[in-house]
Amino acid sequence: MSTLEIRDLHVSIRIDDETTKEILKGVDLTIKSGEIHAVMGPNGSGKSTLAATIAGHPRYEVTSGTITLDGEDVLDMEVDERARAGLFLGMQYPVEVPGVTMTNFLRTAKTAIDGEAPNIRHWTKDLKSAMENLKIDPSFVQRNVNEGFSGGEKKRHEILQLELLKPKFAVLDETDSGLDIDALKIVSDGVNRAMAENEMGTLLITHYTRILNYIKPDFVHVFVDGKMVEEGGPELAERLEAEGYDRYAANA
Ligand code: ADP
Ligand code: MG
Ligand code: MG
Repeated sequence: MSTLEIRDLHVSIRIDDETTKEILKGVDLTIKSGEIHAVMGPNGSGKSTLAATIAGHPRYEVTSGTITLDGEDVLDMEVDERARAGLFLGMQYPVEVPGVTMTNFLRTAKTAIDGEAPNIRHWTKDLKSAMENLKIDPSFVQRNVNEGFSGGEKKRHEILQLELLKPKFAVLDETDSGLDIDALKIVSDGVNRAMAENEMGTLLITHYTRILNYIKPDFVHVFVDGKMVEEGGPELAERLEAEGYDRYAANA
């Protein structure tokens, strides 16, 4: 059982030499193994900033507060150390990596995270079955990471990484955006499999409730203007779907 804990997190971005802007204004969140927490909020509320800060993106400056993984200071870790500690980030806009094939990328990542190269026979088998699960064509392994991939293909490859790297916690930033219904189901199944097999904890950031029909959250958090403003169960997502975020914006 692991715990990812965020306490009173304040994060700013630098606009120019003289100016910074506070985006996260005191975020509190605790996720345990096997739990799914959905974070929902309007555009520009800071959801991607929260995800990027957990992942260690250098652009975001933590001005106060803490992030810990089983008591270890995550903010003190480099990006690669965070991955080795068991954190995984699926990005809203996955990057292309020209000149690096999927197969090399995945094996390098696995080796870095485990601290040793995977057994080649097991690895080949795991890769093949994970790709079959996600209905990814075998030819994709020889293509460069995300280069020329459609939005849906990028998301499937993100979930492929998740299945193979077996993180303790996954932060999925709008993994549902731009997916058609078939791709959404495939991606959701992948997340659910990773949770069932590895007791993964999931922070599922989303703008829409649609994905929550396939990935059932234990907790739903409403995120507005850089902080959590309400917490509830799945019924809260249904209310947001019906009413939108206006009621919170009015108090912002
Ligand atoms: P969300 O993911 O909820 O839509 P973001 O975290 O992307 O929100 O953005 C939160 C706020 O921070 C927005 O007002 C956005 O314009 C601002 N912001 C984020 N990244 C940058 C950046 N690189 N430069 C300037 N403003 C930014
Ligand atoms: Mg505070
Ligand atoms: Mg975002």
